[in-house]
Amino acid sequence: MVGRVSREPADSDKGRVSAQRRQDTRQKFVVGNWKMYTTAEQAGRLAKAIVEGVGIDDRVSVAVCPPFPYLALVGEILKGSRVALGAQNLYPEKEGAFTGEVSPTMLLDVGCKYVILGHSERRHKLGESDAFINQKIGVALAAGLRVILCVGETSDQREAGRTEAVLGRQLIKGLAGLSADALAHLSIAYEPVWAIGGRGHHATPQQAQESHAVIRRRFGRMFGERAAQSLVIQYGGSVKPNNAVALLDRHGVDGALIGGASLNADQFLAIIRAGINEPKTRGEQP
Ligand code: PEP
Repeated sequence: MVGRVSREPADSDKGRVSAQRRQDTRQKFVVGNWKMYTTAEQAGRLAKAIVEGVGIDDRVSVAVCPPFPYLALVGEILKGSRVALGAQNLYPEKEGAFTGEVSPTMLLDVGCKYVILGHSERRHKLGESDAFINQKIGVALAAGLRVILCVGETSDQREAGRTEAVLGRQLIKGLAGLSADALAHLSIAYEPVWAIGGRGHHATPQQAQESHAVIRRRFGRMFGERAAQSLVIQYGGSVKPNNAVALLDRHGVDGALIGGASLNADQFLAIIRAGINEPKTRGEQP
């Protein structure tokens, strides 16, 4: 567990935290990021199992984000269900000579409602900059997609006490030039890079809550308190059925972005139930 940044809220933060609790009425949002996994056959089976298992209780919004080649296939299976379709990326142009890229228009055309942007795997493995992510967000929102913007610090940045600065930079640069109105269709996933991929540690509920408060505060300074209070902030990083209740119980943790566990329908559905906070989910093991 990366230790350093875990701290009790400062006295000056306590009033703000309790005010936030009183206003914490945002609907939980659980999203599966299937990354570059599944075959067509597995994607279809997974989607069917999620649709069958998710039920009609709509207290938690649910979406899945399959790889591009399976969007249409999964979209057909999700039709008429309460599970929405999302993509994992897009290119910020309507159309054109951009070999290998996928436009927002194409995503809408196959039934996508959401798109994940700024995922750390794209930032760190594919070199995406805040400026490029900003361009994508603007184009996606203008096209009518809802954006899930991922932000998060590396373990070195956390160890150096730079978590707040890194989150601030990703928000300031990533959301530059956008208005509070445009951002009504944006949610943020706080995904500490050191916690992603089931490498043995997730953020503690306390660490997640603190970073969510940092993000909400910064967002409020940029777009106003009203926009900040309606902003859905998910936690992502090794969320599993056995830690989901503790994470999702925290005020200000408005849902989860799930990688590994979203590839297993039983685990994904258990995490959704944790968001609904059904008593039977408490203490459930994977
Ligand atoms: C992710 O990649 O968005 C993620 C949270 O992955 P995992 O749940 O596997 O850590």
